[in-house]
Amino acid sequence: MRTPVRDYLLEVTDGLVDVRDGGVADYIPALAAADPDRLALAVTTVGGRSYSVGDDDLEFSVQSISKPFAYAAALLDRGTEAVDAVVGVEPSGEAFDELSLERGTHRPRNPMINAGAIAVHGLLDASAPGGRVGRVLDVFSALAGRRLVVDDEVHAGEMATADRNLALAHMLRTYGLVTAGAHDVVDGYTRQCSVLVTARDVAVMGATLASGGVQPVTGERVLPAAVARRTLSVMLAAGMYDAAGSWITHVGIPAKSGVSGGLLGALPGQAGICSFSPRLDGQGNSVRGVLAFRRLSADMGMHLMEAE
Ligand code: GLU
Repeated sequence: MRTPVRDYLLEVTDGLVDVRDGGVADYIPALAAADPDRLALAVTTVGGRSYSVGDDDLEFSVQSISKPFAYAAALLDRGTEAVDAVVGVEPSGEAFDELSLERGTHRPRNPMINAGAIAVHGLLDASAPGGRVGRVLDVFSALAGRRLVVDDEVHAGEMATADRNLALAHMLRTYGLVTAGAHDVVDGYTRQCSVLVTARDVAVMGATLASGGVQPVTGERVLPAAVARRTLSVMLAAGMYDAAGSWITHVGIPAKSGVSGGLLGALPGQAGICSFSPRLDGQGNSVRGVLAFRRLSADMGMHLMEAE
């Protein structure tokens, strides 16, 4: 169906088709095999209206876009104090797989880098059916409004190259920040990264954060408002790998990117946005995704620091 919003999104993606800079992530076999030309853009408003264009129904593994949602689930399961005891809220300014630990506490600096996300995964309620991964799937599915599943092939490929994440988990165990087995937690975290989503799903999940925790399509309150606010705050501070400062300056929307090429944005009180395009820049962010968000932010006055 044609609507002015859809026409506008089409204009944005049409302007990006010829951008072929960057390359697909190659350290996970399934990502290396991705079609680099795929492109999708989806928006869901806090009122529950969805607009999307391009490969909007193509499933991709959620990868690091899972991190803010798993953080929200851990806040839900354990409360703020217990979560704060194992992970900070400061930008690290370093690559996603660095062992960025705070001096003194040894906590990973934030839940958006792998060390923090692994510690957060370890906090999830393991007594849920299906354990921590079952918990992830339940919360993610409630956020998306449909039943999501893990891609076993992505998971297997990722576990075969998980030495660095295993090393992070072992290190966190030495500080008592992970108490479950290191292999178990990394296996669960990797399954969390291997959940399949579409750009439409991610836009709806983002709209749930933007609305203060109420899934705007199903009407279900999935997260308390304080959990949604905190999650968005950490996304703003640390969601874009080591490009967080430039992102805040140029785009000004709380966001999280992932190595499969997805980019989630959530503008409080307004909308959830997702772009998907697998070619990444040097910081691991989708090249076309960053351009799409810059354009949306400028055209629609979406920068958080905009005075009106
Ligand atoms: N599963 C990936 C890893 O831990 C996620 C990386 C990402 O999307 O940044 O290496």
